[in-house]
Amino acid sequence: MSTLSKMETKSIRCQECDNLVTLPLALKRGEDAYCPQCQAKLASYRDWSLTRLLILSITMLILASIAFTQPLIKIHLLGTMISTNVLDGIRLMSEQGDPLTAAMVAFCAVAAPLSLPIAILYLHLGARLRFNLRPILLMLGKLKEWVMLDVYLIGLGVATIKLGDYSTVYLGDGLIAFIALMLLSLLMLININMDQLWQQFYPQKEVKNSPATCHACHYHFKTMPSSHCPRCKSCYLARQPMSLQKTWAALIAAMILLLPANLLPISIFYLNGQRNEDTIFSGVIALVNSGNTPIAIIVFIASVFVPFFKIIILLGLLLTIQFNAKIHPLLRMKLYRFVSWIGRWSMLDLFVIGLMMSLINRDQLMTFTMGPAAFYFGTAVILTILAVEWLDSRLLWDTYATRRKRCSGSTSRDTPQA
Ligand SMILES: [Zn+2]
Ligand SMILES: [Zn+2]
Repeated sequence: MSTLSKMETKSIRCQECDNLVTLPLALKRGEDAYCPQCQAKLASYRDWSLTRLLILSITMLILASIAFTQPLIKIHLLGTMISTNVLDGIRLMSEQGDPLTAAMVAFCAVAAPLSLPIAILYLHLGARLRFNLRPILLMLGKLKEWVMLDVYLIGLGVATIKLGDYSTVYLGDGLIAFIALMLLSLLMLININMDQLWQQFYPQKEVKNSPATCHACHYHFKTMPSSHCPRCKSCYLARQPMSLQKTWAALIAAMILLLPANLLPISIFYLNGQRNEDTIFSGVIALVNSGNTPIAIIVFIASVFVPFFKIIILLGLLLTIQFNAKIHPLLRMKLYRFVSWIGRWSMLDLFVIGLMMSLINRDQLMTFTMGPAAFYFGTAVILTILAVEWLDSRLLWDTYATRRKRCSGSTSRDTPQA
């Protein structure tokens, strides 16, 4: 505090717990500012210019044209060499399985990763042509959870080991490009500073005392309730509107969908005209029986443990909010961040199915296809990701703040209602 008192400071509200925090007006190079109460990152000095992001985006688009269209793996099956790429897997999933499940895979493995460089190009071009850049900036801020190239790469590894039981597997020409694209997308997601981009396109005056934080663009400003954020023009409310209702709805729907997802077959394998069906769990058992225990553990964690664990944690968090439970909010906040981090890994099984379908496709002799559970499973995973996104984390702290205020009689923190 002694250092802070000598420099110019500003007061802002943490976007994750609503705590009032005093920060230096400008951060030094390489510095990050964290909330002392919930440890959320409040501000960051990252000097990646738009030009650097633009160069990275052009490289990513060139790599994507190779990574999505060239073979990732090839197999030698029944005397024929068969190769597959990301787009082939999605096309076959749509033709032989279900277009909606294929659309989920396409969104997470192709559309979201491509949106990242395309959005940067649009910002660069749109600024010159005076386009409205706000929707693109808002979308960029929410893209992180949906770019699943890393999950797809692990799925590729799982598929390679599974395919090793039937055939010889070779690495394809597009694999290097795919790995490079994945690394560059991670690099961009780590280094992109949304606050800096907003400031560049929609500069706002630095306000020293900002009692409100916009939930959409995280701009700190002075406001009266029910006004609009001056930067992104989103409607400002102290808490995200209908947060609990939307989270409950997504969670209950996901819980219902997980039943058919686990009881119906997720993959069907035809061998010499004989049909073998596997549910998620029997698929894991089959992997153990075939001696692929490490892969069975990965599939079990991604497809069984993560979805159920995530639902139990979310259910617990919602109940603690609804019943004002006396559990310390920092513990609940850590659980909330953990489920938001692990949720996307459940898409792994769908990526594996898409790859296997496009490779093991020899009509009556040997064919792998997806079962009806794939759609229910994919929808349940997407709903749990949305449930975390819709849950306003500040609600976890509201009861705690009210309780603390009652005990101490202090008013250092007010608790606005949604
Ligand atoms: Zn905080
Ligand atoms: Zn805003």
